Amino acid sequence: MPPETAKPTGTRGAVGTAVPAAPDHAAPEGPGAVAAAVAGARVAAEWWAGLGFAGRRRALLAWKRTLAGRIEELAAQIRAETGKPHGDAVLEVMLAVEHLDWAAKHARTVLRRRRVPSGLLAANQAASVGYEPLGVIGVIGPWNYPVYTPLGSISYALAAGNAVVFKPSEHTPGVGRWLADRWAEAVPGPAVLQAVTGGGETGAALCRAGVDKLAFTGSTATGRKVMAACAETLTPVVVEAGGKDALIVAADADLDAAARAAAFGGFGNAGQTCAGVERVYVERSAYEPFLTRLGELAKETRPGDEPDARYGPMTTPTQAAVVAAHIADAIAKGGRAVVGGPASVRPPYVDPVVLAEVPEDSLAVTEETFGPTLVVNPVRDLDEAVERANASRYGLAASVFTGSGRTAAVLAGRLRAGAVSVNAVLGFAAVPALPFGGVGDSGFGRIHGADGLREFARPKSVTRQRFAAPIDLLRLDRRPAALERASRLFKLRHARG
Ligand code: NDP
Repeated sequence: MPPETAKPTGTRGAVGTAVPAAPDHAAPEGPGAVAAAVAGARVAAEWWAGLGFAGRRRALLAWKRTLAGRIEELAAQIRAETGKPHGDAVLEVMLAVEHLDWAAKHARTVLRRRRVPSGLLAANQAASVGYEPLGVIGVIGPWNYPVYTPLGSISYALAAGNAVVFKPSEHTPGVGRWLADRWAEAVPGPAVLQAVTGGGETGAALCRAGVDKLAFTGSTATGRKVMAACAETLTPVVVEAGGKDALIVAADADLDAAARAAAFGGFGNAGQTCAGVERVYVERSAYEPFLTRLGELAKETRPGDEPDARYGPMTTPTQAAVVAAHIADAIAKGGRAVVGGPASVRPPYVDPVVLAEVPEDSLAVTEETFGPTLVVNPVRDLDEAVERANASRYGLAASVFTGSGRTAAVLAGRLRAGAVSVNAVLGFAAVPALPFGGVGDSGFGRIHGADGLREFARPKSVTRQRFAAPIDLLRLDRRPAALERASRLFKLRHARG
């Protein structure tokens, strides 16, 4: 594979001069560095697995203390490479550390060997299941939350006893290296966590490097390429991909709270949030008051570099063009620009845009926009809201605002999404015990929680014969009388009950 050309660290040029300069980092290592990293990780994995749950917990918590203690430094690195406001970067690290803490402290409870019932036919067997590490996990991460998102895989994979080779986005290599460097300081010894920087070619090399599982977070289009590359070596994958999340507002909802949540979920991080809000469906009787309140909030929200800016720039220059295309298409198809419009796109910033009555076949409804735009459409009733929300090929998360607990429970059950927040947006992000992942084009597999730990582990079943079975069928010289007795018992148990 040809070596990749060195790309500038981060997007400082796009962000503007007021953003702190990113520290000087070496050139990307590129695809050529992947094989050696995976070979090193293979050795480290044995050492790491040998530490056991208690030893790994101690090491993970040492790393956690470093991240928490140096949160300002890490937040500055995030800000330097993404341009997001300092407060958002601090919040991102806080969320990531909560998950790391949970994974470190719960791995033993979730994964240790435990007895399971043996059942009637094997009453003489003691049965147990335990979860063993897979070995080496490849993690490929995006740039939008360069700490929180990859750590959702890395923390849980490490806690399950695996070594990790991490390929950060080419837009946030400094964050990736910082995390691996801090690991090396906090946990001296074999390289259990390594970062290999580079672009897509480096990610593709990691897919083909013989890792035991590949955890990918990024766009659906790249997820398909990752799966195809992993298929060559039958490497299993977790795909955490894009979203087009809907927020449903019932007529009985607190409309001010719903509008505030829509603004936060839609405009926060410049809309560059996989599980951010992109579509809003409002019951008709609440539609105008909701739209008015959301419009007020959108008008008082401004992006920028200043400390009090509500959000920062589009991190990658190409994304502004996607946002502009979606706005233009929505208006051309008959949608109404309530706040902002095509002129809101002034790279690297995009001002908040609220589009109303946008046809459901518009790009702004069907495709991930990943910008600070909200489509707000009225619906006849909540049935229509669910129908429209579920019409997407994506299914990452969804939100419901209603004054009725019963309505919330019914809608949460009917929405085709991996997570649902009621009377809030992104409520699940800060709950480490909850698994996270999507359906459809949003991907498959789960990070976070007990499911996230098991995602990076292999169940192993063990039975131990405690005594000879009174009716022993597992022998070549099985006696007919034994089978007859077993058949009678079998019918008593299953043919009548
Ligand atoms: P991309 O799909 O462009 O890139 C994701 C990662 O894949 C990057 O590290 C990228 O490297 C790498 N990559 C690119 N090409 C290949 C390849 N052929 N083989 C292997 N790896 C490759 O996504 P973005 O970085 O633009 O992130 C934004 C997307 O991520 C959005 O769609 C968003 O919804 C999604 N996302 C999903 C989340 C979830 O949990 N479901 C969370 C956060 C984001 P490089 O950057 O160096 O090109």
